[in-house]
Amino acid sequence: MREYKLFIDGEFVDAAAGQTFETRSPSDGSVIGTVARAGREEVDRAVSAARRAFDEGPWPSMTPQERSAVLLRMAELLQGRRTDLSQLEAEDAGHTLRLANLFTIPLGIYHWQYMAEDAGRLDYTAPVPRTDFPAPAWQFVQREPFGVCAGVIPWNFPFIMAVWKAAPALATGNTLVLKPSPYTPITALELASVAQEAGLPSGVLNVVPGTGTVAGEALVTDPRVDRIAFTGSTAVGRRIMQLASANLTPVGLELGGKGPTILLDDADLDIAIPGALWAVYLHGGQMCEAGTRCLVPAGMYDEVAARLVELSEGLKVGSALDFETDIGPLVDHRQVDTVKRYVQIGLDEGAKLLTGGDVPTGVPEGGYYFQPTIFGGVENSMKIAQEEIFGPVLSLIRYESVEEAIRLANDTIYGLAGSVWSRDIPRALSVAKRIKSGTVWINDHHLLSAAAPHGGYKQSGLGRELGRWGLDEYLQIKHVHVDQTPTKAQKFWYQVIGL
Ligand code: NAP
Ligand code: MG
Repeated sequence: MREYKLFIDGEFVDAAAGQTFETRSPSDGSVIGTVARAGREEVDRAVSAARRAFDEGPWPSMTPQERSAVLLRMAELLQGRRTDLSQLEAEDAGHTLRLANLFTIPLGIYHWQYMAEDAGRLDYTAPVPRTDFPAPAWQFVQREPFGVCAGVIPWNFPFIMAVWKAAPALATGNTLVLKPSPYTPITALELASVAQEAGLPSGVLNVVPGTGTVAGEALVTDPRVDRIAFTGSTAVGRRIMQLASANLTPVGLELGGKGPTILLDDADLDIAIPGALWAVYLHGGQMCEAGTRCLVPAGMYDEVAARLVELSEGLKVGSALDFETDIGPLVDHRQVDTVKRYVQIGLDEGAKLLTGGDVPTGVPEGGYYFQPTIFGGVENSMKIAQEEIFGPVLSLIRYESVEEAIRLANDTIYGLAGSVWSRDIPRALSVAKRIKSGTVWINDHHLLSAAAPHGGYKQSGLGRELGRWGLDEYLQIKHVHVDQTPTKAQKFWYQVIGL
């Protein structure tokens, strides 16, 4: 059994009173490690360390290129550990070995590297257009780190989420206290160990696994925190924004979604059918930007439904640690209960269960599994089409006209991401333009880019991560004004108060 500690001020330490929790493998429910549990006291120490590292340490005053160099050393070390990281993500978070090795760990490392490099290329000063009244002046804008950032992340993509918080914060000269989910703390702690090995100055990155209600609230209410970045559910996002309002701490929120997958009547079904399942079943549907509502033209509905069901039934559900597995476990038994509850709600609402809907057989004992599930005949107003289920459940919704498809796609409190499937790109673009969400993919889904912004419209969040937009969120903007009036007499404005 492995033992993990908190990472505070450059060192791995126990909780003050030795508190720990266990982290489990979703594939069979076995305990894979004990982890020191951060409470209020540990969060306080971590924020003090981050504060000191920002106020007195070298990090914020190093040049962007010097910071990049340290972070790129970390990228190299992460590359060297990628097989181990994939194994750990599979064990701790239930990412299948294929998902972790082919996608999530390489993508996380690439995003780290990209943001580290890009922050080194950013212009940290920018000119301001000249104005004439009250008098010409030399003005520019200087971009500076906020200070101490807090990152609170969910359990679905633990390594990528840690990267999305740490890379932009650190690359722009901030320091960070990161609170991972207690379900999946391990890869964030591995990132900390890489930071230690690469010589990141002490206190710049601190990782404090603990519960949201204790460690999370202590962190987001600490008045020494200058910026909060949260990824998680819309309900908790709302709570964090309320808590942050006490100190008016700026918040970035990446929240839930109920993404549409819009099949137009000229879609290439050989791509769109697997594409619609890729959109919803990746990581068992435990994705904020999953395509959970598939909008299908009425004239194609029967064919699409039959082909989706056939393909879905061929998918193998099993242990994350088996290379043959297509769909791995859900994170926890409570998540299985939630999905079961939504299936019952769907049935009660009158949706038609086309396939799945239950716990599968022939899966490892003690694991948290659910069958890939498709509901047909779903009305967009039903709960299963409106609420985030976070499991492998697809709702098929019939539409008569493209106008109706657009209306249904937008009829949700969320606006994170969606996809449009068509052979006619100009037509797909005209639909994409009218979808109220932060990302629209055409003829694919899930492909978030290191260079492009990710974030939500409506109740899917505030602000953007990734790309230049993501780096900007971690930089304060300071206007510097250098007077250009050589004589006091020219400063007529002093006369306003008789000087
Ligand atoms: P969650 O319950 O909202 O929790 C997210 C994180 O916040 C966890 O670390 C949690 O700790 C912590 N937390 C909970 N209550 C808190 C509080 N009062 N103060 C401070 N921190 C608190 O979400 P989840 O169940 O872990 O993750 C699934 C959700 O994340 C889904 O809604 C999904 O859509 C969303 N998500 C969004 C994105 C995106 O980019 N938009 C990406 C991934 C996931 P505990 O676990 O101890 O409660
Ligand atoms: Mg775990």
